[in-house]
Amino acid sequence: MTTESQTIDGFHLLIDALKLNNIDTLFGLPGIPITDLTRMAQAEGMRVISFRHEQHAGNAAAAAGYLTQKPGICLTVSAPGFLNGLTALANATVNCFPMILISGSSEREIVDLQQGDYEEMDQLAIAKPLCKAAYRVLHAEDIGVGIARCIRAALSGRPGGVYLDLPAKLFAQTMDAAAGKASLIKVVDPAPRQIPASDSVDRALALLKGARRPLILLGKGAAYAQADADIRALVEKTGIPYLPMSMAKGLLPDTHPLSASAARSYVLAQADVVMLIGARLNWLLSHGKGKTWGAPAAKQFIQIDIAPTEIDSNVAIAAPLIGDIGSCVAALLTGIGPNWAKAPADWIGAITERKDKNLSKMAETLAKNPSPMNFHSALGAIREVVKANPSAMLVNEGANTLDFTRSIVDMYEPRKRLDVGTWGIMGIGMGYAVAAAVVTGKPVIAIEGDSAFGFSGMEVETICRYNLPVCVVVFNNNGVYRGTDVNGSGGADVAPTVFVKGARYDKMMEAFGGVGVHATTPAELSVALNEALRSGKPTLINAVIDETAGTESGRITMLNPQTAANKK
Ligand code: ADP
Repeated sequence: MTTESQTIDGFHLLIDALKLNNIDTLFGLPGIPITDLTRMAQAEGMRVISFRHEQHAGNAAAAAGYLTQKPGICLTVSAPGFLNGLTALANATVNCFPMILISGSSEREIVDLQQGDYEEMDQLAIAKPLCKAAYRVLHAEDIGVGIARCIRAALSGRPGGVYLDLPAKLFAQTMDAAAGKASLIKVVDPAPRQIPASDSVDRALALLKGARRPLILLGKGAAYAQADADIRALVEKTGIPYLPMSMAKGLLPDTHPLSASAARSYVLAQADVVMLIGARLNWLLSHGKGKTWGAPAAKQFIQIDIAPTEIDSNVAIAAPLIGDIGSCVAALLTGIGPNWAKAPADWIGAITERKDKNLSKMAETLAKNPSPMNFHSALGAIREVVKANPSAMLVNEGANTLDFTRSIVDMYEPRKRLDVGTWGIMGIGMGYAVAAAVVTGKPVIAIEGDSAFGFSGMEVETICRYNLPVCVVVFNNNGVYRGTDVNGSGGADVAPTVFVKGARYDKMMEAFGGVGVHATTPAELSVALNEALRSGKPTLINAVIDETAGTESGRITMLNPQTAANKK
């Protein structure tokens, strides 16, 4: 006879399956049917971080996945909670971040006959086109397999988001404890190395060897791969200048002599051979063509990627190198050997000349101290604090706040910068900040446009509740892009892009016991940020920026239909 102590239920099988695979943290939002799961997971020693909205829990899971190479887990309730988490799941997939969205759902029998259950929805069908893989488990004995399939799907090949549908009834199902334990799977080698074919390595090396103006482009795939030392060796041994995409900043320090960031337009237009390492030729790189890239005939691409279908997505790739970045870079290093001729001196000289000119222009701008503060003077202060605290995590979103921070604030270490990524999505701020603090234990600086902050602002309560070392800096210029737009009709409503003037975002952090600071000068901003890093207390600095500062849509004004039409 089976006594109660010899049985195990679905709740505990799920927790054990995750723990068996070294997953120790859940990001989520409790409610029917997963409230007990969050309690039991906590009781079983897992870290459970509860949010105020599922989108931010999902974003936290995605960022955790990117930073750790373990799938981040987001737990939600059915229908509306699931849908709230779905934006984050889709965003994770687009960005190639491994995460698993686990949602409770209502009963299949009722959903499939559309009989109107509590929060009824065919969640699996809805999730499928928005993620890399989607599964449902109906029987307790399949939980182990379900989790194993999710982990493999999230991590292997090109990483991405996975959905797991768990109907409420599953959690209470019981089975024999020994059989339950035996049904769990510890996933062996979830992201197998993919060694590049030797002829593809030779092809890439031949192209590099003949290059007169070579360039390396590092993307967030390269940062994710954690092949930091080999990537640095590849740059330094070949002497090839490199450009980091925004989340690859710090993979090599932005102050590295071979960084071409300060001569970006020049190198993109002039390079004859461009080696992409974990970066896609999408809109962020003008699809590899057009004015940005200069004469097409004079340019050839080498692309290192784990996804063969990425090759030729926008322009012809002369030398595809398919494999995991670690293995591909290692293979190139072997081929390069000690006698490799470094990139031509005239190319490096021309880049250095432009860099020096642009950097001294930038230094002049940053040294100005206008009143009220503008983006440059505020970021000039933050830049120095980051320089003195290179291991702090930096989260960044907004339009102008994003563009200016990316170009002004240097990064010094790999995977310290999290931002709006492939979609240019707003709303990742507090979710990413929480994950960054939880998984790295390092202080986090979140540089937020006032509009961007609004999407996830309520999570300052989460930051205070878990007492996380997060300092949010809100660049407050009274509106989306800026605060000076007027209502075209002359009516009483403010323009669609204008917020309450003189808002005190700092009071939001104070409301939950954190520290709020109102800063109107770079000096005040610098003091407050240093103090936040020193104390580790949740802090929000309301940085007052000139409300006339800021361009419509920052640097992507051209994507507004009206602007694009006028230009034609
Ligand atoms: P960015 O936005 O920084 O340019 P993308 O997200 O566009 O970067 O590109 C990342 C690329 O890296 C994707 O095409 C993805 O397939 C690839 N990638 C991710 N992880 C690895 C890995 N471990 N090895 C090889 N390629 C990878």
